[in-house]
Amino acid sequence: MRTLLFLTTCAAAALLAQATKQWTLQELFQRNIGTKQQQDTAFPPHKIIGNMHYVGSQSFGTFLVTTPAGHILINTDYERTVPVIKDSVEKLGFKFSDIKIVLGSHAHADHMEGDAMVKELTGAQVMAMEQDVPALKAMKPGGKEHPIDRVLHDGDTVTLGGTTLTAHLTPGHTKGCTTWTAKIAEDGKTYDVVIIGSVGVNPGFQLVNNRQNPGIADEYLQAFKVLRGLHADVPLGSHPAMYRLDEKYPLIGKGPNPFIDPAGYKAELDIVEEVFMRTLNEQRTTAQK
Ligand SMILES: [Zn+2]
Repeated sequence: MRTLLFLTTCAAAALLAQATKQWTLQELFQRNIGTKQQQDTAFPPHKIIGNMHYVGSQSFGTFLVTTPAGHILINTDYERTVPVIKDSVEKLGFKFSDIKIVLGSHAHADHMEGDAMVKELTGAQVMAMEQDVPALKAMKPGGKEHPIDRVLHDGDTVTLGGTTLTAHLTPGHTKGCTTWTAKIAEDGKTYDVVIIGSVGVNPGFQLVNNRQNPGIADEYLQAFKVLRGLHADVPLGSHPAMYRLDEKYPLIGKGPNPFIDPAGYKAELDIVEEVFMRTLNEQRTTAQK
């Protein structure tokens, strides 16, 4: 009995430690981007819920929405990651050439550098948030122009074969950082899926006295407000660590769908917002000296 009590106390302490762990900016950044090997190695492709599938690597979140009218790919990652994604799409039994629409989380190379290559391979329409267009136009792997077939605005929807995704502007991390939401059906129920664009602060990001983007801190605050206002049954993100994929994947088929995790969505926002606020306050203090 005493042993049981001891073990229970240990487990509770471990959980509490996990919940109250204070992440440094560097740790959180590293958690998301992983090692180069993790970036370049496929995570086993799998169905997340309904027609939403995972086809990304161990540290880059890439999602395939399959429909009778073709597929939507969210995040092409680096050009070097495109063959990894293609292989994962095919392992799930889908055709890469059936991708009709390419969307992205935000204008950083680890999420959208591969757009031109995927368009070449599939003929898909590439769509991007207006505020990210200048950064995307400057992204030219191998000299290739970044394709943009449709410019999106906050609240715009993208529909294909009965599935609709909504683009929410969640700026700060980039000017046009986009969080995608969709209602996805499974077993007669409909679930709110949210793919977090990113509210991470990268090492070197200047939140105070930023001449290129004086409003960057306010943009982040706007993004947190938008994200807090979204209901997420199934939280996903531009990096799979944002929704603890490695912990959820082994639970597939062993009970309720492990990706249904509204509490996990809030917990992730708490972690990232705490790091953001702490970094902002530190930078403000330094700027006043
Ligand atoms: Zn980024």
